[in-house]
Amino acid sequence: MLQDKCGVIGVWNGPDAAHLAYAGLYAIQHRGQEGAGIAVSDGDHIRLHKGQGKVVDVFDADTVKNKLIGNYAIGHTRYSTAGGGAMRNVQPLHAHLAVGEVAIAHNGQLTNAATLQQQLEEHGAIFQTSSDTEVVFHLMATHARTSFMDRLVHAVQQIQGAFSLVLLHRDQVVGVRDPNGFRPLCLGRKEDSYVLASETCALDLMGARFIRDVEPGEIVVISRNGVVSHRFAPPQRSHFCVFELIYFSRPDSLFQDRSILEIRRALGRKLAEECPAQADIVINAPDSSNAAALGYADASGIPYELGLIRNHYIGRTFIEPSQSIRDWRARIKYNPVRHVIEGRSVVLVDDSIVRGTTSRRLIRLLREAGAREVHLRISSPIFAHPCYYGIDTPDYDQLIGHRLRTPDRIGDQLETDSLHYLSHDGLREVMQATANLTSYCDACFTGNYPVPIKFS
Ligand code: SF4
Repeated sequence: MLQDKCGVIGVWNGPDAAHLAYAGLYAIQHRGQEGAGIAVSDGDHIRLHKGQGKVVDVFDADTVKNKLIGNYAIGHTRYSTAGGGAMRNVQPLHAHLAVGEVAIAHNGQLTNAATLQQQLEEHGAIFQTSSDTEVVFHLMATHARTSFMDRLVHAVQQIQGAFSLVLLHRDQVVGVRDPNGFRPLCLGRKEDSYVLASETCALDLMGARFIRDVEPGEIVVISRNGVVSHRFAPPQRSHFCVFELIYFSRPDSLFQDRSILEIRRALGRKLAEECPAQADIVINAPDSSNAAALGYADASGIPYELGLIRNHYIGRTFIEPSQSIRDWRARIKYNPVRHVIEGRSVVLVDDSIVRGTTSRRLIRLLREAGAREVHLRISSPIFAHPCYYGIDTPDYDQLIGHRLRTPDRIGDQLETDSLHYLSHDGLREVMQATANLTSYCDACFTGNYPVPIKFS
């Protein structure tokens, strides 16, 4: 299963900015569980609290109420994609520049960070972290004798790849989205406050209403002057990450004011149209494929059933009695509902297959629960290429879609009775019809990377 990347939050003019940021981070916890942090400004100084683990592990009531004082805040949930998960890489990052204190949080991954870091180090920069985000500070620091905004524009014009950024400087909260628009970033309003968030589900929990998405190539500066928009790059073809809509974003979030749940349901309907199956029931691989399975059931007329239940309460476990309980790792997370499965021919709908380990485990569990046949249907094309734009994917040699290439060979390895994927045309049709998206990044399916990758 793929790991989500990071999530970011910004709050401007919230009397309880840290509380609002905390609520927002809770809503986007699915985007990163390795670390979390909040930076708060009172207009002069920035206070920062961050740590490793989930939001609930990092913050307590006293910290949020009594230590993070100020009306302006940014927050971050981290899943490490570049630089590893060490404490020094947990965001927001904070620096003292000539224009004052600045904090930054980043969702995405820079494709030219290594080259920029090398150039900056040759000119004397000393990096404190191994996070790609730190190059933004150094680029801002070395653009001497200019304003905060000039430095920021200079920096974001040098970096390439995927970046949705939030920054905090004095009484300003700033949002930036890369010219390709790989990762989402939206703007909302709550009474006299403005908020920025990776997903609209965070606005719901913060009690804010959606205003609009930050545009690709746009910087929004929120200050006493209101929301002021600056362009740092001309509009260009969108390369929004289509996998946000297939799998990553929460289904209760909106994409350009359209329901992600409905987009996924339409993918399931298209999948049923393209890849029918003779079966008694449709079940979902919990939980990200719930909507696609509902769509498959809608279009096929095969009844939808809850055949697999996911345990959401797994922390770190030290017991792994692999000898005494077969498939322990699968069973601790998923349990088949035997009376639903037994004697039935089952369509199992999932959104993607990455390594294939989870799919194989689920199929085995279903057979052990008495399934007569298991037909696997995937609501996206074959995932055959790693992502370099902020999603933690394994290398080529671990991607089953790259190793085995065809649905028949992959299906044989997973021990399915049949396996079919949604076509590229089917994906395009659904994205156009339901998300009004005609251009997007699909490099993990096609290998067509819209921004070149520079590894050193
Ligand atoms: S490669 Fe795939 S996961 Fe990465 S940004 Fe593109 S569509 Fe999204």
